[in-house]
Parts: sequence; structure tokens; C-alpha cells
Amino acid sequence: MILVEEALRLILEKIPRLGTERLPILQARGRVLAEDILCSRNIPPWDNSAMDGYAVRWEDIRGACREKPAVLRVLADLPAGQVFKGRVGPGEAVRIMTGAPLPAGFDTVVQVEDTEKDGDRVMILVAPEKGKNIRFSGEDVKAGEKIMGEGDLLRPAHLGMLASLQRCTVSVYQCPRVAILSTGDELLEIDDPWEDGKIVNSNSYSLASLVSECGGVPLQLGIARDRREDLAAKIQQGLAADLLVTSGGVSVGDYDLVKNMLDELGRMNFWKVAMRPGQPLAFGMLSGKPLFGLPGNPVSSMVSFEQFVRPSILKMSGHKNLFRPALQAILREDIPKKAGLVHFIRCRLICERGKVYATTTGEQGSGILSSMVKAQGLVVLPREQTLARAGEEVSVINRRGRGARGVLKKGPLPSIPGRPQGKKGSISLEGFLFFVCTKKRLGDFCVLCG
Ligand code: AMP
Ligand code: MG
Repeated sequence: MILVEEALRLILEKIPRLGTERLPILQARGRVLAEDILCSRNIPPWDNSAMDGYAVRWEDIRGACREKPAVLRVLADLPAGQVFKGRVGPGEAVRIMTGAPLPAGFDTVVQVEDTEKDGDRVMILVAPEKGKNIRFSGEDVKAGEKIMGEGDLLRPAHLGMLASLQRCTVSVYQCPRVAILSTGDELLEIDDPWEDGKIVNSNSYSLASLVSECGGVPLQLGIARDRREDLAAKIQQGLAADLLVTSGGVSVGDYDLVKNMLDELGRMNFWKVAMRPGQPLAFGMLSGKPLFGLPGNPVSSMVSFEQFVRPSILKMSGHKNLFRPALQAILREDIPKKAGLVHFIRCRLICERGKVYATTTGEQGSGILSSMVKAQGLVVLPREQTLARAGEEVSVINRRGRGARGVLKKGPLPSIPGRPQGKKGSISLEGFLFFVCTKKRLGDFCVLCG
């Protein structure tokens, strides 16, 4: 028996990070940056107006008010995208649009609402503070500043920033191609005619989508039958990918050929991991490619994937943060367990009066795929624990988020304009934001964000 943490350590030690490639920025969303990005110039590059209004010299309008407006001569109309090259002197102003470069000699912009035009003159009715309504050169980023670094995940804002630096392409880590192979004579493909005694190959679909969810490219190799030649040929095919995941055939059984086959092909580890579900696990490097032999039961294969394959794919893709966010929740029911194995219990999360509660999704057998369908998270019960009691605080792996670690905060109920209101006490997980919608202000509530 090997501990979960020990298996994970041994696996991650062996997992290589992939090489890099250069991509047009739009194709790089969700990838991990493989270079530091230094700002080639100030952003914004010049002082510019934050408002439609009038560029003025502050000393000309000091103290102006409705009763005693300052009157200035308007030299020009300056739309965004144009530069005023004239000289400016006392008592002069330029009508300026949002984004237009501030002409040299001016130091303040008065918003149009605080002015009144009168022929080629303008009356300044309210005097703002000096420097008001100007976006200063470099206030966003300064030339030479490192705005993004190697290892950063590229999100939409990063791509906008790269575009504003006129970077058409960017160097990112390659994204792993992951071959998925189901094994077993009992399996039917999704579109095969129904046959008594057979089981539909669902693992290929859950595993392939787990791969895409964490940024890998799944390559479905279909089913290998419990015959040496078939298995050997499909495993060879799988080694063309960057990582190979098989399901089935790694436990002790008459037809568990996969285990023997892998053993012949290279140096594999066949572990009994101290966890439930997902005890049997094969891992090794074949021809330099990591190979995971996951158990065949649908829940076991998904939980083992979560625990071992997902962090490996993230590492290969250049990510620094390899784990899903965890949160604390209060158990709603007793969960009996024996000491010796870490249990991953499929759970729903419920928010009530500022507290997060976990309830199981019902029957927890490793073949009960509906328990995964219903689950928002996995309660992790430590190895040495026996009975977990209702009311106890437990750790939960949040399966609906990525890279974010949540903090439970007291505070007013977050309301997000334009989003439908949920039922009182319901909880939604949307990207990094974990929020509760209710018509009533609960007084203390929680937001979890990354
Ligand atoms: P095994 O690990 O090969 O002994 O399989 C354990 C159980 O998982 C058996 O009941 C299999 O029928 C089931 N199983 C194996 N592979 C798959 C698959 N690809 N899709 C769905 N169920 C599977
Ligand atoms: Mg089998």
C-alpha cells in the first residue's frame, strides 16, 4: 500500500514539462506563458483626456464657478487619434475628446458638463482640481516593466495587454496530447448495437472531457480487447501522444492483461494507493512518455484522474498551480469509514446563513457514475479517520473551479447585476466566483474568488 501523497510525489517527480511553441495571441488563451513580457513603451504612451471636455491651464480657471465663470478662447477641436501641434498660451483652451493626447502646455481637463460653449469661447462653470480628468503616460504600465511572467496563465485580459503592446505572437508551453484507451472484452462502443452482458465504454468520454477541461488535447483510441496483440498495438499507438491513460485491467483478476502487458513493456509501478475509490493504479514512463493505468470502474477512474493525472497534465502544460481549490464545509450527515484509506466522498454543497454544508450524493459505490454527475465537490476524509460525524468541519475539493483558492468571508451578500436571482440559500459556482443569490440580505455571506 502506498500513501496518496507519496504516489503523487513519485509521479510528479517523473512528469516532464513540455517544450514551447509560438502562437498567435488569440490561440494562446488558456495556455501558460513561456517567456517574460516586458513593456516596450509606456501605456498609455502619452497623457490623454479621460473625458470629453476642454483641455485648460489650471491657473486660468482656478476658482471658477457658475457665478464667476472663467472664459477661455477655444483654439481647436481635438478628436481622439489626432495630435494638436500648436502652441498654447494664457486664456486658451482646446476642445478635447476622450482618449485624445493632451496638448503640451495644458495640465487639466474640464468635463463638458461643467462648461458652456459661446461661439469660439468657452465658459468654465466648475473648476476641477489640477490634473483632473487626465490619464497620465505610463499610469497603466511603464516602459521596461515586467507585466507578465513565465508560468502565468493567459486569460483574456492578458491577450488584450499583449495586443496593446503590439505583440502578435507569444511563446507558450505546448499543450499535452493525451491518448485514452479503454480496455475490456465487456465493453461496447457508444454506437454499437446493444448486447446483453455488455457495458458501454463511458470512461473514454468522462476521461476525454476531464483532459480537455484541464487544457489537454484528448485522443480517443477506443477499446483494446483483453488480448495481448490488440493491447500492445493500441499502447504503441498511444505512445505517439505525450501521455497515455488506460482504464481497466489493473486490479487483480484473471483477465487483467493490461497489468502483465505493461509490465513487459517497461518499468511500471503497480500500486495499491491508500484511497477509496481508486485503489489500484499503474504508473510508469514508457519510451519517455508517462503512462497511467487507471482502474476500470467509472468513479474510480475519474477520481484517480483528478488525483494523479490532472496535476500531471497541468505540470506538463507549464502550470505552477496544479491543484483544484479546496474549501472547508460542515458535514450534514455521518459518514462511516474504516481507518487506512483516504476517502473521496462525492458531495453537494449547500450554503445557509453564511456557512457551507456538504451532503453526500447518496450511494458511493465506485460504479455509481450518477454520484459524480450530482457532485459539486469531493469531501476528503483523512486516512486515519474512522467515523466522520455530522457537524464536523471537512475539506472539500471544489470540482467546479480551477486554480482559485477560496476564502470564506463575512460581509454583505454579493449581488451581481443582470444575473438571475437564485432561491434563498442556493449556491452557484461560476468560474472563480462562488456566490449566493438570495432576495434577502443575509447579513453575513461568502464570496470565494481566485
Ligand atoms: P476492471 O478494472 O477492468 O476490472 O473493471 C472494473 C469495472 O469497471 C468493470 O465492471 C468494468 O465493466 C467497468 N469498466 C471497465 N472499463 C470501463 C469503461 N471503459 N467504461 C465503463 N465501465 C468500465
Ligand atoms: Mg477489465
